[in-house]
Amino acid sequence: MKIILLGPPGAGKGTQAKSISNNYSIPHISTGDIFRKNISERTPLGIEAKKYIDRGHLVPDELTIDIVKDRLIEKDCDNGFLLDGYPRTVNQAEALEIMLKERGEKLDTALLIKVPKEFIIDRMTGRRVCTTCGASYHIKYNPTKIAGKCDICGNFVIQRDDDTEETVVERLDIYDAQTQPLIEYYTNKNLLSEVDGTQAINDVFKNICGILGAINSDNN
Ligand code: ADP
Ligand code: ADP
Ligand code: ZN
Repeated sequence: MKIILLGPPGAGKGTQAKSISNNYSIPHISTGDIFRKNISERTPLGIEAKKYIDRGHLVPDELTIDIVKDRLIEKDCDNGFLLDGYPRTVNQAEALEIMLKERGEKLDTALLIKVPKEFIIDRMTGRRVCTTCGASYHIKYNPTKIAGKCDICGNFVIQRDDDTEETVVERLDIYDAQTQPLIEYYTNKNLLSEVDGTQAINDVFKNICGILGAINSDNN
């Protein structure tokens, strides 16, 4: 399946992406994870991207679109992919459509994880992420089994530099201005599906499986 995940920062995209990717055997592609890897390796891309990410701004489309282009031509995307955090602008969505069209492919769905703003600050400031595999935890809602260590790979979990209340508020404004229009964009293409993201993590996942199962059988 070819899926993109939409939703504000803190909606639970990364959390659900790990489970969806396992269930459907498709790679989880997170542009945020790709940028963070480049930042930790101090590549030219990472140094440039960090300037925007630390302020809660979007990395410019010129940098972001090429990264996704390069990633989608890798062999593991032959049977589909799950994009988490891309597209974030209409320009990025149009670029994705062209990339897929050139391969004779199209998206199965743009899945919106709906979470009202009042949930977001609490989720983001309590978030902890694995420095190695990117798994996302929460100090209250999804704690690691061993304090400070990732359940999956055993490495350290940390708080992201951009998960401060101030930056999250900025990111939410940017979401409203630049990413929210994608909801209408994919509605007009009959590709939007929605799930209530306020429920417990496992319940959200069950609902996602129901939605994706129905789309998959319709498309086959
Ligand atoms: P996103 O990738 O959309 O920014 P994450 O998946 O990293 O979001 O989730 C943000 C934070 O909220 C994390 O700390 C995560 O553990 C927590 N979280 C995710 N889904 C839920 C949920 N359904 N209920 C409560 N907390 C959640
Ligand atoms: P979250 O889901 O918590 O908002 P991500 O890990 O998806 O965060 O992204 C972290 C940051 O990386 C974003 O705030 C933004 O600065 C940058 N970023 C990630 N994906 C994109 C994208 N598609 N376009 C522009 N900037 C991006
Ligand atoms: Zn890990």
